[in-house]
Amino acid sequence: MKTIDLVVPCFNEEEGLEHFVLETNKVIDTLPDYSFRYILVNDGSRDKTYLIMKQLATRFSNVKYISFSRNFGKEAAMYAGLQHATADYVVVMDADLQHPPQVFPQMIEALEKEGYDCCATKREEREGESFFRGFFSKLFFKISNKLTDVKNPYGAMDYRMMTQQMVRSIVELGEVQRFSKGIFSWVGFNTKWISFKTVDRELGTSTWKFSSLFKYAIDGITCFSVAPLRFTAVMGAIIFFISLIYIIITLIQTLFFGVTTPGYVTTLCAVLFLGGITEMSIGILGEYIGRIYLEAKDRPIYITKFSNFEEENNEEKEEPNEK
Ligand code: UDP
Ligand code: MG
Repeated sequence: MKTIDLVVPCFNEEEGLEHFVLETNKVIDTLPDYSFRYILVNDGSRDKTYLIMKQLATRFSNVKYISFSRNFGKEAAMYAGLQHATADYVVVMDADLQHPPQVFPQMIEALEKEGYDCCATKREEREGESFFRGFFSKLFFKISNKLTDVKNPYGAMDYRMMTQQMVRSIVELGEVQRFSKGIFSWVGFNTKWISFKTVDRELGTSTWKFSSLFKYAIDGITCFSVAPLRFTAVMGAIIFFISLIYIIITLIQTLFFGVTTPGYVTTLCAVLFLGGITEMSIGILGEYIGRIYLEAKDRPIYITKFSNFEEENNEEKEEPNEK
């Protein structure tokens, strides 16, 4: 029997978590040839999510959980889940049922019958999405596909089913600054894209703000490309050549036609323009140095406070002694 692990990052999901498991169980029941296991990752929720996880684990034997010592972010939660996933196929999905478990059969078919290593989803249409959010996310997809090795279609989501082999390669990328959509694409393997209409969150509220979306976009580019650095170098070179021409013109003017005093506007423009460019270049440089700094510290991606994986390991260790 093939096994499937469901990795579910959860942050303040007290309202919907039980509903999620019950709804997903309905789908699981229609797939008796596969053995499913939940890996619920509590990402430092400030509500009762952890208690609900524990209750679910006592109710259902296939519920495993990891609970972080604080909020480390969805990327860290996914990493923790993937690290613990040992099944043949591994699914990454949200806890708010925006990622419908009804597509499991389609995903299994892509992996088993069509020979793909991964079956990922992209959204068809995001209803109720503001014009600005839509515009900026489209722009981000275009820019990041151009600048980086990462190629994702517009609307690509984290929701996907992968083979164990692919999961192991993802876990091997142990960077602290994680950008999963990029990592999923970077490791390669054959990915099939399927789409479905996204639905509004049934319970609880979305925790993403516009500022986090902006940060996400910057991460997406800087984690996978040094193009912005090259851009500053190219811009520097262009400005250098323009200045050179201007210097020659000014020299000729002064030498052959005498000194012209007024130059206040040109001086001011040049100083301000170059100042702006310099600041921006330092900023871009700083962004990368900051990343080097954070990676160099080599801190763990997450810290576990509670987990029922340890219990399992202890049992395994104790067994040989008893025999
Ligand atoms: N999530 C998380 N840590 C966070 C924020 C979100 O683990 O810091 C989880 C959340 O519980 C959910 C998933 O990531 O399962 C997606 O979050 P959300 O639904 O808020 O985002 P959206 O659907 O708007 O992308
Ligand atoms: Mg959601």
